[in-house]
Amino acid sequence: MGAVICTGIYIGGMALLSSNGFVHQAEHILGGWQIPAGLLVIGVLFGLWPDVDTNSVGQNIFFGLAFLTDIVLIATGRFEAAAYLGLLAMTPIVGHHRGWTHSFLAMVLVPLPIVVVPYLHNQGILPVTIVVYGAAVVGYFSHLLLDGKVVKGFAIRSKSRY
Ligand SMILES: [Zn+2]
Repeated sequence: MGAVICTGIYIGGMALLSSNGFVHQAEHILGGWQIPAGLLVIGVLFGLWPDVDTNSVGQNIFFGLAFLTDIVLIATGRFEAAAYLGLLAMTPIVGHHRGWTHSFLAMVLVPLPIVVVPYLHNQGILPVTIVVYGAAVVGYFSHLLLDGKVVKGFAIRSKSRY
């Protein structure tokens, strides 16, 4: 819910800026409803991601995705990629809950492939991917905020300990 609100504010802000001509490149991608809806989904996914280190909705989603992807990679003979994915998928549970996945460095670095990977193939796509990256960072930030990592003493915790 925090990610929905924070990403919603971000999308609204970007739409406002682009309609005022401040973010020229964002204008045509924020025009319809499909891209803003996609940005919202991305924000929510990255808002759930930090709890991948514990038993949570985020863990179910991301380990499920990693598992299916790994099966596809192995079935198609891409063993090297499968090995790297397996290694990456292990990293969140190395360490304790609210460890590195709940850090500002992770907030900036984890969504970075959104910008870097498309850029390696097509430099022209950079303005679009930066808007998408922003939504991911904002969603991630909302998690750290509600976990009490941003403002000391401000946290929204459910009765469960996640
Ligand atoms: Zn958390």
